[in-house]
Amino acid sequence: MKSVIVIGGGLAGLAAGVALAESSWRVRLFEQRPFLGGRATSYVLPDGEHVDNCQHVTLGCCTNLDDFYRRIGAAGKIKFFDRLLFLDPQGRKGEMQAGFLPAPFHLTGSFASFAPLTLLDKLSIARAMLDILRTQGKPSDLLENGGISMLEWLRRRGQTKRAIERFWRVVLVSALDEELDRTDARFGVDVFWKAFLSNSTGYRMGVPAVPLGNLYDGCKSEIERRGGEVTLRAPVRGLKIENGELAGVRFDEGREETADAYLFAVPHTTLAELLPESVKQSDPALANLDKIKVAPITGVHFWFDRPVMDEPFLTLLDTTTQWIFNKTALYADSNAKDQAAPKGQYLQLVISASHDLLQKPRQEIIDLCLTEIRHALPPARSAELVKATVIKEAAATFSPEPGVDRWRPKQQTAIPRLFLAGDWTETGWPATMEGAVRSGYLAAEAILRSHGALRKFLQPDLAPDGFIAMWLGKH
Ligand SMILES: Cc1cc2nc3c(=O)[nH]c(=O)nc-3n(C[C@H](O)[C@H](O)[C@H](O)COP(=O)(O)OP(=O)(O)OC[C@H]3O[C@@H](n4cnc5c(N)ncnc54)[C@H](O)[C@@H]3O)c2cc1C
Repeated sequence: MKSVIVIGGGLAGLAAGVALAESSWRVRLFEQRPFLGGRATSYVLPDGEHVDNCQHVTLGCCTNLDDFYRRIGAAGKIKFFDRLLFLDPQGRKGEMQAGFLPAPFHLTGSFASFAPLTLLDKLSIARAMLDILRTQGKPSDLLENGGISMLEWLRRRGQTKRAIERFWRVVLVSALDEELDRTDARFGVDVFWKAFLSNSTGYRMGVPAVPLGNLYDGCKSEIERRGGEVTLRAPVRGLKIENGELAGVRFDEGREETADAYLFAVPHTTLAELLPESVKQSDPALANLDKIKVAPITGVHFWFDRPVMDEPFLTLLDTTTQWIFNKTALYADSNAKDQAAPKGQYLQLVISASHDLLQKPRQEIIDLCLTEIRHALPPARSAELVKATVIKEAAATFSPEPGVDRWRPKQQTAIPRLFLAGDWTETGWPATMEGAVRSGYLAAEAILRSHGALRKFLQPDLAPDGFIAMWLGKH
């Protein structure tokens, strides 16, 4: 039986570990923290509250994440929603919800009545959408100068200021965790092609109905059931290189472990610190990891003494707070059996690309967000804020800046036995759970291939439907 050492128990390492275990490899996974899930996890705060590192959502177009959740028996713990709700400071609501028309017109009805945008804004958006449609998500100027910014792409298409602020920025900053002027237009256009235009279900939003850490119970059991091991609190401290090949990994107290293949599924910043200079020099793809920058996300957790919102989630326009998730409602089904209905309400707010908040004191962030919440949700004005926590993730994702793809290495390296996975490796996707799982599947395929076995884990994109399918000749 061949064996692999997987370093890192985030989604990339777990996806690869489960896939390799299913392929009859002995998987030994080492994670430095006391729990699995990496950045997409949850933990218990000192006061006993179980919180997500930050709210995570998936979309209908994330086919590999969906496949992974199915493999590990977690698919039933994700609730999908068809209706996305937006609210501006003047109290005007807008919705995105598929109507009876087939793709690409499924969202046209709700878009036409989207109150926070004017007719002029909508016409400009429609023009840009037509360009994405006509080119099947590949407008010719995307690759200009090695990649142009999303803001530049939108300006070239005459978007109004409000369309940029209240539509493009709202969707893309949440999806890509970066401001439009620092985002490669390739990623931005891809979001709209895959999630909103090419089929009618890609935009549906999946939200975990349990704390994130509870999604991964099936990974450990799957790996162990097939003869592998998952070891927590086991940081890898270095690589043992012999004759230009990877011959082992080092742990604390000089302990070494060896295997037929090694998969590093750690953040790129960590890998850059672990790799010896000789390795970076022998594979040019590993020499530029420090060129991949990072972007922050801030999560703000509010516990109110009474219910303040009915919706499961809501997007705010023109405010620092971008999303509000009603965690009490989202967890309701999973909590139902052990408790009476809670009296208070737990909300989690998300602020992506939160560069400006990194230096701000936590109390200032709480005050700012509380003012916005009380403005947006009238019942919150008379409610007492019982408790609040701010979790700043300075390196939440890699920054999808123009041209970043040229620095992202493939999963197979030039060093024998050294493989990579992680949302930052070459997947074509931005830093998302879907990207992480894709990288894990690609790494598992590469490891098997290096031992003469061909197996495919990577799932195809969501198939186009409606008029798009007819247009592309799929029917
Ligand atoms: C605040 C926040 C919000 C986000 N929201 C979303 C969202 O809504 N939707 C979405 O799709 N994505 C979201 N993301 C991105 C998503 O979480 C990541 O893309 C994905 O989880 C990355 O998985 P990964 O396995 O590549 O890396 P990681 O999750 O970082 O996993 C790497 C693992 O390696 C471990 N490790 C590091 N060094 C060592 C070592 N020396 N030895 C052993 N183990 C080590 C780490 O502890 C970690 O568990 C968000 C991220 C953050 C931080």
